[in-house]
Amino acid sequence: MSIFLTRPELPFCKGCGHHHVVRSTVRALEAMGVRPTDVVLVTDIGCHGIVDGHFATHTVHGLHGRSVALAAGIAMGLPPGKKVIVYIGDGGATIGLQHILEAARMNVDLTVVVHNNMLYGMTGGQPSSLTPRGFRTAITPDGSPLPHHDLCRLVYDAGASYVARVLGVGDFSEVLRQALEVEGFALVEVLELCTSYGVKWNPGLRLKALAEETGYTLGVWTRPPRPVFRLRAVAEKPLGPRGVGLLDLPPVEVRFSSPLEGRWTLILSGSAGEGVQQAAEILARAAMAAGLHVTKKGSYPVTVGVGFSTAEVILSRSPIFYHGVHEPDAVVITSMDGLQDQQDRIRGMRRGVLWLDASLPTPETGMEVRIRDFRGHAGARYAALYAVWTVLQETGTLPPAALLETVRGSPLADRIPVKMF
Ligand code: SF4
Repeated sequence: MSIFLTRPELPFCKGCGHHHVVRSTVRALEAMGVRPTDVVLVTDIGCHGIVDGHFATHTVHGLHGRSVALAAGIAMGLPPGKKVIVYIGDGGATIGLQHILEAARMNVDLTVVVHNNMLYGMTGGQPSSLTPRGFRTAITPDGSPLPHHDLCRLVYDAGASYVARVLGVGDFSEVLRQALEVEGFALVEVLELCTSYGVKWNPGLRLKALAEETGYTLGVWTRPPRPVFRLRAVAEKPLGPRGVGLLDLPPVEVRFSSPLEGRWTLILSGSAGEGVQQAAEILARAAMAAGLHVTKKGSYPVTVGVGFSTAEVILSRSPIFYHGVHEPDAVVITSMDGLQDQQDRIRGMRRGVLWLDASLPTPETGMEVRIRDFRGHAGARYAALYAVWTVLQETGTLPPAALLETVRGSPLADRIPVKMF
């Protein structure tokens, strides 16, 4: 059995074209000599997606039509040499067409394999926008009245480096290998028949004849190499022809240490526009600089300029597999908006420490309450950052120097009044 599979059998109906896609993918990867740990397979919703557990690579299961966006984020953050593959059906490609076009336009380094059996197989055989005119489906018994999109043409015109359309029968691993070896965006559209629905409603159908009759031209379309889109933090420096990027967050180097043994959770809540998320991000990067694992989540109303702004931060000595915070160790409130947002949580808490701005009423709680004059000392704009500084000073969770250095390295450093610390 291949090192890329966890078991020899596959979960698809007998005769389904998905078998050939998986077997050809495995052959292509074997021919390239890559390791399973160098491969990330991102699947979409559809029968093809059940294959996740059968692959010994990294696997991620996306929402319907969103797998290419998910994979693009992964690919942008990986160094050259890793292989990101998307498995998506014609239904998912229809739903997420703009994600595919954008990834092609940006030339993100990934390979999309479209399982085009010309219908939504998992939900009973409804037509997608890749269903050709005349093809009968569950809701078009007389044949689809509309022509299909030429996905390969759309994607090529959007800027893809490599595009191919093949019949999904036998071994087409050579085309997949070519696509995977391209540095940049590649898409292989595999024409298949769903034996459970496509054949049922279109008896006697032959795939090759269908492709010819409906204008599904087979072939490979390529263009000369052009820059690949990567985040600057992972691209080669200086950015040369191998990469372009929009984000410029420098990588975090571990230069400090933390006495934290287990996990420490913090809720920081204040008003929109008063730097709550920025303060939490600075804390997160400072914790990374102290060698900790970190998650940070933000929540705020849709109208981001008014109301509350709340951040949840988890610091941990070991990897974080669940980023929910139910009973935080620390709650920091810097304004009335924050207090109102967190009042139910605070009322129900029986442990932990609440740091509360001196301008606020003290709520009922089982937490230890510490009143501090964050707003009076640092002003509304920097009360949250000063509160984080205060908490670190009082708990010793991180060396305050780690926070200070992170502030100095921030793109906004020249605006933050460091003398307040
Ligand atoms: S329902 Fe169709 S697409 Fe799904 S596994 Fe069966 S043959 Fe394949």
